[in-house]
Amino acid sequence: MAPTPLIAGNWKMNGLLKELGELQTLAEAAGAGLNQGRDILICPPATMLSASFGILGNHVAVGGQDCHSAESGAHTGDISAAMLKDVGARYVIVGHSERRADHGESDELVRAKAEAAMAAGLIAVICIGETEAERDADATIDVLARQLASSLPDDMDGNRVVVAYEPVWAIGTGKTPTADDVRHIHDFIRRTLVERFGDAGNGVRILYGGSVKPGNAAELLAIDNVDGALVGGASLKASDFIAICQASP
Ligand code: PEP
Repeated sequence: MAPTPLIAGNWKMNGLLKELGELQTLAEAAGAGLNQGRDILICPPATMLSASFGILGNHVAVGGQDCHSAESGAHTGDISAAMLKDVGARYVIVGHSERRADHGESDELVRAKAEAAMAAGLIAVICIGETEAERDADATIDVLARQLASSLPDDMDGNRVVVAYEPVWAIGTGKTPTADDVRHIHDFIRRTLVERFGDAGNGVRILYGGSVKPGNAAELLAIDNVDGALVGGASLKASDFIAICQASP
């Protein structure tokens, strides 16, 4: 049986408390049935987590955009998975390409963060994806194989891990891979998960991320082994994000 689709919004470093009205609109749509047959997640900035949880309640999950690999300690400015859980988060994104690039996060660190997330009872959304230079060098599959091998915890539970395939060159650019490329890559990710984790690999949701918009969501979300989307820019406006949710089968 195919896993329940997940439509996840990543607000990145955007959003002030005055923007909570967008979440109110989303909560109302979810209350009216938008969340039937699909899981919906919003990852606001950490400063808005608590208020977002208050608004979205049980209809729409909230999540962090990153967590530290340690449970607590002398790590000024960082947030632990337990802290996210404490304010109502159910998920956390780890290994987003912006964290890998801006903060030099390695596959091994991403794996440690995913393990910390799972230990705290969160679902880890582990991001992988090739850069434009890697794609141009025909290295996409090699890069993804390395990231999957090294960023995913060994102790896998299909319900506690989500993999998000996000080609770096498609993030925030308006460019997307062809449907054939997405199908081919998601098939590869699925096969890799099943080879390593057995049947648990079939339960892992594989999201596509990178310039998902209301206009292309239906085509992307209909592809085999695309179990949802990780949406950046288009998640900031409730009407766009709702349209993307509605496009999921
Ligand atoms: C992202 O940052 O995860 C993302 C997919 O961004 P966008 O949808 O804006 O391309």
